[in-house]
Amino acid sequence: MNAPELRRNPTDGRWVIVSADRGKRPSDLKSAAVQSQKESCPFCPGNENKTPSEIFAAGDTARAPNTPEWRERIFYSLNPVVSLEEELDRQGEGMFDMMSGFGVHEVIVNTPLHEDSIATMPLEQLNELILLWKSRLHKLRANPNLKFAMVFGNRGEKAGATIEHSHSQIIATPAVPYRVAIEITTGYDYFISREKCVFCDIFENEIGGERCLWENGNFIVICPYAPRFPYELWIIPKRHSSHFDETEDSDLAGLASAFQSAVKALNKTLNDPPYSFVLHSAPFIEKRMVHYHWHFEIMPRLSNVAGFEWGTGFYINSVPPEVACSTLKESLK
Ligand SMILES: [Zn+2]
Ligand SMILES: [Zn+2]
Ligand SMILES: [Zn+2]
Repeated sequence: MNAPELRRNPTDGRWVIVSADRGKRPSDLKSAAVQSQKESCPFCPGNENKTPSEIFAAGDTARAPNTPEWRERIFYSLNPVVSLEEELDRQGEGMFDMMSGFGVHEVIVNTPLHEDSIATMPLEQLNELILLWKSRLHKLRANPNLKFAMVFGNRGEKAGATIEHSHSQIIATPAVPYRVAIEITTGYDYFISREKCVFCDIFENEIGGERCLWENGNFIVICPYAPRFPYELWIIPKRHSSHFDETEDSDLAGLASAFQSAVKALNKTLNDPPYSFVLHSAPFIEKRMVHYHWHFEIMPRLSNVAGFEWGTGFYINSVPPEVACSTLKESLK
């Protein structure tokens, strides 16, 4: 079996991507060394021929594709977990459900500068990157077979990044992932009982409080009330909106500085920790939802998930969010 498949676990409803190409031998599953040499970095300008051909790059209109002088650059992943080359095919296999590994896996190089990162890049660059994420999602939404897409990023070897140069990724799938589905059903139950969006309520409850790290006109950054991981942060837009890609550009103003403040605080407090971030936004197939509200989650990868967490879904967090928030706030002074 070489083509990737999406398989649904019937005991909890989770979809799993089984992609044989990515790890043929157990030795391949050991963590790959991080590509940190600037000279051989495939994401640095001048090395465009080391990546798949670009889908889009922000730069001068006169610039030829796959040449330097770009500000952000997008191409399909060299090791895609899902691909448009697969036919969308959903079928039963006896009692099981599976789908072909149809989908889109894009890589976005966030900046031409090898040393730059979300914490250090100019805000205009980060703002342009955020608007690029939005426009990519908007494009992917046009494919009726794609139900959902997630923007995410990993920084540092422990967070799964094999290339040091700052980059983000988008994976779009024909199935809605478990965590987002759970947030939506929980949000729906909350809305039915309280007639309010749970994220709007969180924002009203937390603003200016002991778990509120940072805020501006459009966004707050909080340490959530029940975080799974030490120093976990959420960025929540103040204005209700279920779909990130349908949010007005003017309502995204300030997200760059919210994001940068969050990551700067983590870097200063935890000495540049490995971290991952994810965008949770409503599935493309849903119309605007009153009970769902897009947000980013940022997770420093300080500890491994152990057996108890695995087995129960109870996360044990050794740093109360109130303590994490006051420590992080100090670093922003
Ligand atoms: Zn580089
Ligand atoms: Zn809301
Ligand atoms: Zn979420």
